[in-house]
Amino acid sequence: MLVVQKYGGTSVADADRIRHVAGRVMNRIRQGDQVIVVVSAMGDSTDDLIDLALQVAPDPDPRELDMLLSTGEQVSVALVAMALKTLGQEAVGLTGQQAGIIAQGLHNKGRISRVEADRVRRELDAGRVPVVAGYWGVNEAQEILTLGRGASDTTAVALAVALGAERCENCKDVEGVYTADPRIVPEARKLKDITYEEMLELATQGSTVMHNRAVELASVYNLPILVTSSMVEAPGTLIRQESELEERNRVRGIAHDTDVAKVTVRKVPDRPGIASNIFEPLAEAGISVDTIVQNSSEGDLTDLSFTMSRGDLRRAEGLMPAICASVGAPEYTSDANLGKVSIVGVGIQTAPGYAARMFRAMSDAGINIELISTSEIRLTCIIDSAKVPDAVRALHAAFQLETAE
Ligand code: ASP
Ligand code: MG
Repeated sequence: MLVVQKYGGTSVADADRIRHVAGRVMNRIRQGDQVIVVVSAMGDSTDDLIDLALQVAPDPDPRELDMLLSTGEQVSVALVAMALKTLGQEAVGLTGQQAGIIAQGLHNKGRISRVEADRVRRELDAGRVPVVAGYWGVNEAQEILTLGRGASDTTAVALAVALGAERCENCKDVEGVYTADPRIVPEARKLKDITYEEMLELATQGSTVMHNRAVELASVYNLPILVTSSMVEAPGTLIRQESELEERNRVRGIAHDTDVAKVTVRKVPDRPGIASNIFEPLAEAGISVDTIVQNSSEGDLTDLSFTMSRGDLRRAEGLMPAICASVGAPEYTSDANLGKVSIVGVGIQTAPGYAARMFRAMSDAGINIELISTSEIRLTCIIDSAKVPDAVRALHAAFQLETAE
């Protein structure tokens, strides 16, 4: 079968690990499979490049930043291809451009619009292993666009779809998808499988196992993704349309995120148009707002709260005086130290009692809930960021995730 194997930064962090990856790819080829490899930049090198840029320019030019960041993946591509050749396997390192990853949108925030797969196809047909740079492509003007942090996963899925691979294997320093982050909950259990929908919610609510756009793309094309370890041989977690077990714990996992900031606009006159007056300027400034809660109004005044990541708070606060003036609100308040915990699982909304159990667990742990948001398969509480680890542990215990499949 044809598979795309993606190796993350930790899995290619040094020369030994790169040789190990090459050995793993070779094993697959010996078993008769065809492999396309996608790699991330070595270790923390993307962060190091960003630090370097910030030393040269406090607000680096986005085009030149993409020029810089794209080099990280190019380094690992070359090294993995060299290691494969040393083992006697023909291989070819390809940049995002050479691999035909066509992107559109803004610098640092590109999105893959299509894959021109003929070069990769030709290399495969000639018996060479294509080793492709994750994380970036080029637009129609041949300008480099990086695709957002962690987006090598998305490159891998896009290539797998374009080449008709049977599946994408995301080879990582963890063995799969767990019921919660094992660094916080040592009893967390590795899942055999999980649906796209559930994985997408977990990824969007803070789990870093998979890039959320990779899951979205895989779901659209019904491409299975196996999350597995690059270090040890162990069964991983299969992400796919349907999960095997119907009678199972409806809560599949807990996601957390310690990076949440909140703004509350106080005493807004409650009339049509206020929400658009508040959110249009924020959207124009490129600030992506997450949870929005409007209180029921007392008299004709209401409070409206919204959350975003901490990095956007300063810019949002810069806009707030004008926004408050435009809607006739006397003041706003903000809180930079929040986080969120979510329980995710298909069917939790249709089953009674999940919300009550979640809130009981939080209150037993002495944790105050600031905001609540829900989707069909998710319940989220916004809380003090310092309390997030306690909340994850309390929820993991309350929903018995250490035992139930
Ligand atoms: N190297 C990039 C990052 O660190 C992309 C990736 O790792 O997927 O964000
Ligand atoms: Mg990385």
